[in-house]
Amino acid sequence: MNTKILKINDNSLKLAKALIENGELVAIPTETVYGLGGLATSTEAVNKIFQAKGRPNDNPLIVHVHKNYDLSKLVFVDHDYVYNLIDAFMPGPLTLVMRHKGYVSQAVTCGLDTLAVRIPDHQGCQDFLKYVDLPIAAPSANVSKHTSPVTAEHVYNDLNGKIEVILDGGKCSGGIESTVLDVTKPVPVILRSGLVTAEMIKRVVGACEYVQNAGDDVVRSPGMKYVHYTPKCKTALFERNELPLAQELYDKLTQKGQVPVFLCDDKVSHKLCGEKLLLGVSGEEIASNLYEKLLEGEKIADCLIAIKIDTGSEIDIGVMNRLSKACKPYEKGEEI
Ligand code: AMP
Ligand code: MG
Repeated sequence: MNTKILKINDNSLKLAKALIENGELVAIPTETVYGLGGLATSTEAVNKIFQAKGRPNDNPLIVHVHKNYDLSKLVFVDHDYVYNLIDAFMPGPLTLVMRHKGYVSQAVTCGLDTLAVRIPDHQGCQDFLKYVDLPIAAPSANVSKHTSPVTAEHVYNDLNGKIEVILDGGKCSGGIESTVLDVTKPVPVILRSGLVTAEMIKRVVGACEYVQNAGDDVVRSPGMKYVHYTPKCKTALFERNELPLAQELYDKLTQKGQVPVFLCDDKVSHKLCGEKLLLGVSGEEIASNLYEKLLEGEKIADCLIAIKIDTGSEIDIGVMNRLSKACKPYEKGEEI
């Protein structure tokens, strides 16, 4: 199979709809990262998603619907604050975990009694979801464990030959996956941080908690226990007060004939000497660039030397969640 990258228009939407209805997969743009979409009511289609990605089969998928879709087909609303969250953030990079009604395949939820639902805020994605008018299960469109894709080309590099069509909606603006919020409890609980932050949720609901990072975490958001987002090159992650140590590693690797590249925000860049991939200044900008730079880095570097970010924005929590999974913390004296 030769994977086609198609701009979103009447012809490509028609083809995408036919593929989806046939139980095939289509990669779709969203405002967070590209998704690998399949019909959520078809166990066969959902199994294909897990196969194409090599995704562990206890890690449930998010279901995507268009903004006029009747959510009551899929889930129960247990608390009134959920309506306020829907008004405030949907469409947008927020996924709600709610008790489900058994409408989608059990393969989507991995047998859980809750379903994760999202309404993406991306015009091309909305056009696709409206055109098919069906619930679409979609994890990120990368091979499991690898860095998430934010362009059609990134998807192609991971999934060429495994799917027929990638709908090309340009570079994803948000850059990191949605905030996953459990709204089955009286107080909403963040299972995965993203661009909709705890403060933003508190302003709407009055309260918001983070999931406790105990063993409980594994049960409440199965995906969080897995290795994620990793580029194909070696990595070393440093604290912001370890710049001399990071520079030492860079110089040592260069002397050994390797190609190290720094991955850092613009603020610390002038304190480092060598090849750099710059992430930007603000929390939003860094989130938007993170995966693109990691994927650029794996092409040019033997080792990415990453520096933790600290912009003072709450978005840093979501970015650091990804960066610290993508890059391995460096231990002093470690041979790379
Ligand atoms: P991904 O599709 O790879 O961006 O991951 C989706 C995230 O949502 C993973 O961390 C899943 O564990 C989480 N998730 C999906 N469905 C549920 C659910 N029903 N309950 C809790 N977490 C979920
Ligand atoms: Mg993913």
